[in-house]
Amino acid sequence: IGTDDQEARFRESVHLAGEVTAQPRRTTERAPAPEAFTNAIDSDPALEEVRAWAAEAVGAAPARLTSPVLTSTADVDGVVRLARDLQREWAERPAHERAAVLRRAADELEARRTVLITQAAHEGGKTVAQSDPEVSEAIDFARYYADRVAELEPGASLHTDGARFTPAPCVLVAPPWNFPVAIPIGGVLAALAAGSAVIIKPAPQVPGCTEIAVEAVRAALEASGVPRQLVQVVRTDEGEVGQALVAHADIDRVILTGAAETGDLFISFRHGRRGGPGVLAETSGKNSLIITPAADFDLAVGDLVTSAFGHAGQKCSAASLAILVGSAGRSERLLRQLVDAVRSLRVGWPDDLGATVGPLIEPPQDKLEMALTSLEPGERWLVEPRQLDDSGRLWSPGLKDGVRPGSWFHRTEVFGPVLGIMRAATFEEAIALQNATAFGLTAGLHSLDSQEMAIWADRTEAGNLYINRHITGAIVRRQSFGGWKASNMGPGAKAGGPNYVAQLGDFEPDGLPA
Ligand code: GLU
Repeated sequence: IGTDDQEARFRESVHLAGEVTAQPRRTTERAPAPEAFTNAIDSDPALEEVRAWAAEAVGAAPARLTSPVLTSTADVDGVVRLARDLQREWAERPAHERAAVLRRAADELEARRTVLITQAAHEGGKTVAQSDPEVSEAIDFARYYADRVAELEPGASLHTDGARFTPAPCVLVAPPWNFPVAIPIGGVLAALAAGSAVIIKPAPQVPGCTEIAVEAVRAALEASGVPRQLVQVVRTDEGEVGQALVAHADIDRVILTGAAETGDLFISFRHGRRGGPGVLAETSGKNSLIITPAADFDLAVGDLVTSAFGHAGQKCSAASLAILVGSAGRSERLLRQLVDAVRSLRVGWPDDLGATVGPLIEPPQDKLEMALTSLEPGERWLVEPRQLDDSGRLWSPGLKDGVRPGSWFHRTEVFGPVLGIMRAATFEEAIALQNATAFGLTAGLHSLDSQEMAIWADRTEAGNLYINRHITGAIVRRQSFGGWKASNMGPGAKAGGPNYVAQLGDFEPDGLPA
């Protein structure tokens, strides 16, 4: 969140650059022809070697999968039993030993950085530029959760004064395919920090990423004499066996990141079990970025495009709507810049280092297909999305104007490369439109007016608020990540922030019956 101080500095720098007001800059047009970007990349001989290396590394064979496939409920019972057997010894280790294992895991992940990046690109279709910070995030999780271990000790803080923390013995991690390294490994590390045993079921599209990352964690466990099976990777179908795993009475917590529908399903699976759901879920978002007349439009356009089309829009945090306030909505310059920016994005497979928008995880279906191929009343394409090859997975990004309040696109998460524009007469109306969805994950504001910043931060119903920057790419420790409303199911502490680990167990008053 921008502070007055930051704003003052920003105004000062604008002033020094010869631009005296915080109103949209009245500079001359500056958007280069879209081809300029592409040609610049193609014709730079210094990049050739790097490009060849990337093409080879990304195209390499995926990791050999060694995790077992569970085919019966008896298999599920066996995995859970082993987890609970191994957990006792782990939980009894002193806190500083558990923390040291997590720090070692950070080093082991760091040592596998290149292979993790290329595997995420190969399997998950992420550009190298998107995979790279994801691996950093995984490493950050290890160091951050290591720091949290000591806080679980009795008397470590006011919050836990005199209370004993009992870890959930067995935690299931069910990650999504869109962050195939950071999200799975973040869940594993949080559970290990708590003192739990972990079972992880990778997303079926990206199991190799999970196996490589878990091997790093296991190397750290083994170096301290902890059995590697404290973290078990399993694969199952999505049918009866998968359901038995999620519903298992001896799995105490389930960490899910996925669509809200999956969250509802998981909770329904676990309703019948003793002790109730125990699901910690970060679910869907329908995120927007408000641009007011007091914004720096140049910055806003860049941040909007980054937020909407990074990883082809396949992020819970992605911007799906731009809400333009008052005269910002009538600015032809803003619209033209946005159109140019969207057209200039280069779409390609991850072995093409020049591509900024990668492939979809699969050819679009259902909601995404509808969003890419149809318009609702009042809408028109400013940039119409196009399918670029026979795979069905490469799509040029779409930009549409005229999204109406309460329409399907206003309310629905589509998880792909489409950005819609809405107009609001007033700032208040813009905030109301931003809040008028079931979800509340990320939200953005572009404005240099500190009063608008304060009002917005106060009224916006979302877990992660970003002012004058992009709305994706939360950083561990600095911007813990998680939602409000239907974007969150469960106790709600955010990943990469305080209390996340503490959710994976229970505090009981020392010496008193629970
Ligand atoms: N943590 C990611 C971000 O801040 C989003 C994770 C997700 O898509 O689930 O962009």
